[in-house]
Amino acid sequence: MALGFDGVTQRFGAVTALDQVSLSVAPGEIVALLGHSGCGKTTLLRLAAGVERPSSGRVLLEGRDVSSPAHFVEPEARGVGLVFQDYALFPHLSVRENVRFGLRGYGNAEADATALRAIARVGLADLAEAYPHMLSGGEQQRVALARAVAPRPGVLLMDEPFSNLDRRLRDVVRDETMALLQEIGATSIIVTHDPEDAMRVADRIVLMQHGRIVQSGTAEELYRRPTSLFAARFFCDLTEIDTVARDGAVDTPLGRFPAAGLPENAPAVLGIRPQAIRLVPKGFCLQARVMTRRFLGEVDHVELAVDGLDKPLVARLPLRGSVAEGEDVGIDIAMDEVLVFPVGDT
Ligand code: ATP
Repeated sequence: MALGFDGVTQRFGAVTALDQVSLSVAPGEIVALLGHSGCGKTTLLRLAAGVERPSSGRVLLEGRDVSSPAHFVEPEARGVGLVFQDYALFPHLSVRENVRFGLRGYGNAEADATALRAIARVGLADLAEAYPHMLSGGEQQRVALARAVAPRPGVLLMDEPFSNLDRRLRDVVRDETMALLQEIGATSIIVTHDPEDAMRVADRIVLMQHGRIVQSGTAEELYRRPTSLFAARFFCDLTEIDTVARDGAVDTPLGRFPAAGLPENAPAVLGIRPQAIRLVPKGFCLQARVMTRRFLGEVDHVELAVDGLDKPLVARLPLRGSVAEGEDVGIDIAMDEVLVFPVGDT
C-alpha cells in the first residue's frame, strides 16, 4: 500500500513538530525515519496511523486523502499496524490473546489460527499461553511484531522497536524483523535515532532535523554523499577542522583539500572520517604522535596529535598496522573519506 505525506505541518501550541513534510513511500518499501530526539519522527508516525490530525497538509493512503476533516479515515479503518518502543502488550492477556486482539472482526476459529500462525512465525509457538511478564524483552518485542503483522496490514509503523533490547539481541531481532517485513511485503516505516538500525533494516533512510526532511536516500548515498555536516555527523565520528575556502580549496594544518563549489572566502568545515587515516612510512608525509590507543577488536581507535592542529585527529587503524601510545608515525589521508561543508550548514 502506498503511503504519502503531502506538505504536512503539525503544530502543538508554539512548537512546530513538523514543517511542510512531503514524503512518498512506495508499496513494500521499508523506510527508516532517522533523527535526534524531538525532530518529529513519532509525530509523523502518529499522523500516518490516524491518532493525530495534521495542522495542514495531507496524509495519503493509496493516493487517497485520509487526513483532511472531510475525508478523515479512523485509525482502525486504515489497515495500518503499529509497534511501539515499549511494545504496549496487555499484561493480563496471554501471548495468543494479545495477538488475537489485533484480529477483531475475524471469526473465533480464524482469529485463533491466524494468531497462532503469526506467533509461530516469530518463533514463539511454545510461549503462546505465557503472559507478558513471563517473557524476555526480545520475546515481548516479537509478540508486539506478531500482533502488528497478524492482520496483514498494508502499512506497518514501528516506533523505536529495538531500543529496549541489549546489543546482541538487538542484532538478532533486527535481522528477524527485516526478514519478516520483506516476507509480508508491508510498506514499513521504522522510527529510530540509531544510524545502524536504519542502515541495516531500511531500503531508504529519511533523515529529519527540526521537523523537516534534510536528506533521503539509500544508506550508501547518505553515508558517501551527505549533503550537510549534520548528515555527515550522523554516520561518522568526524574530526572537524574550521577553515576558509580559497581558490576552490581549503588550507589546514593537514594540508590543502579541494572544496569545489564553495564561495571564495567562505568559512568552511573540513570533516575527516576516522578511516581516512592510513599509516605510511615516515618521511615525506604528515607526522603525527599517538596520544591514545583503544583496542576495539577489529580495529584500533587512535587519537593523533598533529603540529598546528588544536584537537586530536581521530583514526581507526587496522590491527596489522597498529601503533603504541607515544609513538611517532607517518600518516596519509584518503581524499575520498574527507568532506567539506560551508559553516552554518548544520
Ligand atoms: P523522540 O525520538 O524523543 O521520540 P521524536 O523525533 O519522535 O522524538 P516527536 O515526539 O515527534 O519527536 O516530537 C516533536 C516535537 O513536538 C517535540 O518538540 C515534542 O516535544 C513536540 N510534541 C510532540 N507531541 C506533542 C504534544 N502532544 N503536545 C505538545 N508537544 C508535542
